[in-house]
Amino acid sequence: MKIPSPISIKSDPGVILLKRIRALMASEDGVQARLDNFVKVISSSMKVNVTSIYLRAGDELELCATKGLKQTAVHTTRLGLNEGLVGNVARRARLLNLAEAAEHPDFSFKAETGEQRFHSFLGVPLLRGGRNLGVLVVQGRRARIYGEAEVENLLTAATLLAEIAVEDERAGGAEARLKGIRLTPTGAETITGQAFADGLAQGRAVLHLPPVTAGHMIASNTAEEQARLSKAIRKMRRSVDAMVNGEMASMGAASKEIFESYRMFAYDRQWLDRLHEAVHSGLTAEAAVERVRNEHRARMLKARDPYLRARLHDLEDLANRMLRSLGGEDLDPGQRQLPDNAIVFARNLGPAEILDYDHDKLKGIVLEEGAATAHATIICRTLGIPLVGLADSILDRVEADDEILVDGELGAVSIRPTPEDINEFLVRVGIRAQLDLAFEKQRYLKAVTKDEKTVSLLLNAGLLVDLPGLNAVGADGIGLFRTEFQFMVSQRMPHLSEQVDLYKRALKAAGDRPVTFRTLDLGGDKILPYADPVPEENPAIGWRAIRIGLDRPGMLRYQLRALLQAGAGQHLRIMFPMVAIVSEFQAARTLLDKEIARIEKLGGELPKKLEVGVMLETPALAWQIDAICKHADFVSVGANDLLQFFFAADRDNPRVAGLYDGLHPAALSLLAHIADRCKAANTQVTVCGEIAGKPLEAICLTALGFENLSMPVTGVGPVKSALLALDAGKLAKLLKPKIASASDANSLRAAVKEFCEKEGVPV
Ligand code: PEP
Ligand code: MG
Repeated sequence: MKIPSPISIKSDPGVILLKRIRALMASEDGVQARLDNFVKVISSSMKVNVTSIYLRAGDELELCATKGLKQTAVHTTRLGLNEGLVGNVARRARLLNLAEAAEHPDFSFKAETGEQRFHSFLGVPLLRGGRNLGVLVVQGRRARIYGEAEVENLLTAATLLAEIAVEDERAGGAEARLKGIRLTPTGAETITGQAFADGLAQGRAVLHLPPVTAGHMIASNTAEEQARLSKAIRKMRRSVDAMVNGEMASMGAASKEIFESYRMFAYDRQWLDRLHEAVHSGLTAEAAVERVRNEHRARMLKARDPYLRARLHDLEDLANRMLRSLGGEDLDPGQRQLPDNAIVFARNLGPAEILDYDHDKLKGIVLEEGAATAHATIICRTLGIPLVGLADSILDRVEADDEILVDGELGAVSIRPTPEDINEFLVRVGIRAQLDLAFEKQRYLKAVTKDEKTVSLLLNAGLLVDLPGLNAVGADGIGLFRTEFQFMVSQRMPHLSEQVDLYKRALKAAGDRPVTFRTLDLGGDKILPYADPVPEENPAIGWRAIRIGLDRPGMLRYQLRALLQAGAGQHLRIMFPMVAIVSEFQAARTLLDKEIARIEKLGGELPKKLEVGVMLETPALAWQIDAICKHADFVSVGANDLLQFFFAADRDNPRVAGLYDGLHPAALSLLAHIADRCKAANTQVTVCGEIAGKPLEAICLTALGFENLSMPVTGVGPVKSALLALDAGKLAKLLKPKIASASDANSLRAAVKEFCEKEGVPV
């Protein structure tokens, strides 16, 4: 793109127009007066006969200021979004440039405005933050198409106009002066998504990637702004390149596809040309980014295709990066600060991003995407942070600092709740507290069913913050200690002494209760900020967990050494994740034996009892139970992975999450097979996927014969309550015929719920 010299910019009518708008924006006038002045400035600068501003009022557009149409029409003329040329511009969020307005099929004329005398029409949408606030129109008596420079000037003016309208409203005064027209979402709204992590939270909205509003919008020196923009583009590209090349994997989503589309946008010529043009029209670099972003947002929000909509967010992120860099911020990742009672809103978050936040202040999370068994979800459950996911378009409805209620029981989010909403919510918080009290009373009871089956209820843990939960809920031990969490929250690989320290603390917190440590389960969506990610087409079934451990035996042996040191003189349980064939387990066991031999050679103390188990997470291993039980001391069913592979439904992909159902007869039949085979091999078996912590699923697992369930801390109370009221034999009688391979039943969820209702089992 050719950028004209600064000399030609000085005499540019666009720049003169901007100067006049700048004076107007700086004035102390109320919003109506400013709108009235605005239309006058546009009319005289662009030498047009009419300039009008229409603003959205619900599903209509109201004429709010005009120069050239009848003043009596102001605040009386309203158009539907499907009505007339103005409606056309608003609906499509696209400009309309016509020589002869009356010839357009959408033309409809409003007698009260007196517009019949005009021919040319140029209408541009007033876009801000993806919302269409209204339309700015100029009209002329002469039939002509408006030139490129005129169009550009009007688009720039529209960006500034949107800002005037919204900023004024933010300051609190616009509503009265604009007769109730609301430009930003201000009312109470409830958006329903899915409950991914239980709990109720009240707090204030924090946007994970805050939209940065363009502070100073009009440039005082266009050449300087071009230079700032070019610099910001270079910086943004560098950060995106670094991300794609893996140096900043912790910055965002792990998937290669997203990284690549970032890169594609970062180098998109059209986008960059639009940015330069916007600066050339007299805007600051920030305002240019804002303007081009708004144009994209409004267009892409209309896209039905979720893929396209997802790309919109990529563009948003890039625009945010540019604005942050223009504001002098470093684009490197770092510890993220939060205000008190923060509810974080994002499109999606990775587990490391959640752990990056100060969890004392993080009270809830709301995602447009997310999935029930994603690791980010598991982290929320572990930390007791309610999470609502699949909250469609919520980022377009929420503003930073809005008051929020997160309902992780029902999967709903109230934005700017009314006092009644808050009262109702607080009643539920009270009921929950009573339930917690009831669970508290059961804390010292064993989970024994009415027909005398004892179930051991264990915790899933991984961080120091999880350990107090052991006593708080009266768990029988730690059934799954996810050791990779420590690696994920560190800025570098934890030293041996740091690993030993954490494992010792876990053993100490458990006392004489068992703790089962799982060796590093990295890969998939668990990425270390300091390690080079390996680009893979299918990371969930790629190079992860024990596969990495066996290919990088140094790292695994280092961890096994730490575990053996921590467990010296104690009862130590270690298990290996994602084993698909027996020989992988044997190879891992050999590495452990080498570490044992090393300690013996050095005269160190060994654990007084060592048990080595296997995680059953691949369907293949379910058909090698007899073989694996000859080598492993225990089996732990990682139902999250097992079921994702069993249903071939990515646990992180919301589009296929519906397929993933632990109460489908096929899943129950697989689980029954595992329970039976382990029993036949006389090998202890535990279920440690998320299903173990859900009362409905947990009672079914018990009915199938599982006696050990490991779950998030929030699951223990509700699961214990359900088990205490359960006749497991009765439920088994209901389930067994239905899970025979001849069954064509869909999910048994409804049938199990009905059983619980009849039997008085609280689920
Ligand atoms: C599982 O897959 O069920 C499991 C417990 O492991 P993770 O969720 O950590 O992959
Ligand atoms: Mg797993």
